[in-house]
Amino acid sequence: RAKENGRGSFCFYTAEMNADARQLHKIEQALRVALEEGQFWIHYQPYVQQSSGLITGVEALIRWRNSAGEIVYPDQFIPVAEETGLIVPIGLWVLRSVIGVIAQWQREGHPDITFSVNVSARQFQEGHLVGQIKAALQENQINPQSLMLEITESLMIRDPEHTLNMLKEIKALGVRVALDDFGTGYSSLGYLKQFPIDLLKIDRSFINGIANSQDDETMVSAIVSMAHSLGVGVIGEGIENDQQLQRVNLHACDYVQGFFYSRPMPYDELALFFEGYQKSHLGLAESE
Ligand code: C2E
Ligand code: MG
Ligand code: MG
Ligand code: MG
Repeated sequence: RAKENGRGSFCFYTAEMNADARQLHKIEQALRVALEEGQFWIHYQPYVQQSSGLITGVEALIRWRNSAGEIVYPDQFIPVAEETGLIVPIGLWVLRSVIGVIAQWQREGHPDITFSVNVSARQFQEGHLVGQIKAALQENQINPQSLMLEITESLMIRDPEHTLNMLKEIKALGVRVALDDFGTGYSSLGYLKQFPIDLLKIDRSFINGIANSQDDETMVSAIVSMAHSLGVGVIGEGIENDQQLQRVNLHACDYVQGFFYSRPMPYDELALFFEGYQKSHLGLAESE
């Protein structure tokens, strides 16, 4: 059964298919082709710092056009890539690409912003993630502060000791770490204390309901104040309208991200959007 995901009728994979072995194998083959033939690219979605009104960072989100010319979204293939281990080479491709793009961004003379990259648990468990990041940063002469990794709490649950060691090494490079999709899963605020996390991203399911659900609003408010008391910044994900933005701001989120500001877009568009956005917001600040 193909799940309705609101992104057209095409559906490559859903968890409901229960990882049907043949289907999985088909996608695995297609992902290998994708890597070999360069069918992936990356979109960037800005996030806005509420205190300044300016874009201070963007999140890198992988995109795929398969051999049939269909666009396949990450929710439909990242789970398969994780299950088959292909997320390791795919994730490395994303990291290297984004680090290259940071270098381009700096060469083009744009102001410094943060580029966030989603990293799967498998990448922490296998391969040589830290060494690869270090090498790519050096090769491109990038300020490590420009890079942030987005991880999920599954990592802390599965292998806390290894995760802590890896995070310490990553932090030692100067790279920052965000905890993604917070509020889903176990979401222990204890993670914020035990692990070196710089930013917490409140899952968009809470933002979704915030304008009309007291529970969601209570959750957001509690998460923000706990995070702040531990010195951790907060991003609200998935802001789609002004009402949600007003609500989220009531609870002092540091950053917000969502379609309300911008959809994820290719690099060239980002550069244009960024310049226009910053100019108009700096202009506003000056005329006030
Ligand atoms: P995520 O890291 O939580 O990324 C946010 C997702 O929410 C993105 O979906 C983004 O397009 C979407 N989004 C942003 N603002 C809004 C909004 O206002 N409304 C709604 N409805 N959606 C919004 P996307 O690009 O389809 O990615 C889905 C997930 O796939 C990501 O969730 C992340 O977990 C994973 N993913 C994407 N790229 C990568 C990657 O390079 N590596 C890994 N390991 N995972 C990735
Ligand atoms: Mg993310
Ligand atoms: Mg998220
Ligand atoms: Mg996610």
